[in-house]
Amino acid sequence: MKFAMIGAGAMGLRYGILLQEAGNDVTFIDTWQPHIDKIREQGGVYVSRDHQDRHLVPIKLETPETYQGDSDMLIFFTKQMQLAGFLKRCEHFFNDRQYAFTCMNGMGHIEKLQQYFADDKIIAGTALIATVLNGPGDVDFMGKRGAGKMNMANLTEKPDEMTHRLFDELQKAKMNPTLTTNFKGTLMTKVIFNSVINTLCTLFEIQMGEFGNFPKAYDLGRQLIDEAYDICERAGITLVSTRDEEMYALDINTRIDMSLHYPSMYQDMIHDRPTEVDYINGYIAELGREHHYEAKTHIFLTNLVHLSEYHRANQKQARDAEQAEKAQAKTAQSA
Ligand code: NAD
Repeated sequence: MKFAMIGAGAMGLRYGILLQEAGNDVTFIDTWQPHIDKIREQGGVYVSRDHQDRHLVPIKLETPETYQGDSDMLIFFTKQMQLAGFLKRCEHFFNDRQYAFTCMNGMGHIEKLQQYFADDKIIAGTALIATVLNGPGDVDFMGKRGAGKMNMANLTEKPDEMTHRLFDELQKAKMNPTLTTNFKGTLMTKVIFNSVINTLCTLFEIQMGEFGNFPKAYDLGRQLIDEAYDICERAGITLVSTRDEEMYALDINTRIDMSLHYPSMYQDMIHDRPTEVDYINGYIAELGREHHYEAKTHIFLTNLVHLSEYHRANQKQARDAEQAEKAQAKTAQSA
């Protein structure tokens, strides 16, 4: 199958490289110039697995403006706040035969995809697969080959032939897909999972295991999960796990499966980039508002993450100003 990976960050590279290794024709499309320059200069991407076996993997890389290909399947892996910009820049090569697939975290992306693709061409899912972009042209796949799993569903909830072909390719690439016919429930179950683990680990800058082993982890998780499940019940969304199953998944993933991993929201925070919190806890709070339920804990957490972003932005501004002042003084001295 012919794939275009739109967004060649941590997850775009992981999915794309594994699909390429499984025999597919994959082109990566990205906009971050230092990343593009580095990949071109070194002739590919350096790939490690759990910090080991760092090796160069050649890839085909384009920008939205230079890509002329005709892919069967476009896979979107941008951050939520980047998606609208990518869609606009890529629009010139979209056609009505193409499918759009994504396993981005949060909610808000589906409405944006619907502006460019028909409902029967949209497939979305969730990925419990941890990946870190160390820097331009350098990615680390966390977990052994075949570790992690993912869910996928059609927006129409009617899997067609292309959905099954995609499923087969993801299976060959060892992404461990499960195909469901509950679109919103599949996506929201992961949003709720992330609303606990991504947000709390990011706020406290801790690994998932440090959260999971905290004696009050259950209480913290339960409060957020109960609020979110109450809202989904009001919204008529049937989640794919019960509250207890979701608590169990949190426990296993944090303490055992991904104990050493920092969630992707943390990667944004420590690099002073905006986080996806508005599309995770913020989305749950907004859904609550629509159904006359005040999600007090999710609102509080969303605001705390924004406070942390604000504080970091101020610190960065102060650091940049100090550096600029030092550089100016040096220039004046040598003049
Ligand atoms: P990413 O930040 O690695 O990449 C997304 C885009 O941002 C890419 O186009 C990349 O080139 C660009 N980018 C990366 N660093 C940048 C920088 N410093 N400056 C400018 N641009 C930069 O994002 P990701 O981790 O691949 O996440 C994509 C989606 O998948 C998100 O919705 C995320 O929540 C979700 N997700 C991530 C993981 C994970 O472990 N990384 C797991 C499951 C889901």
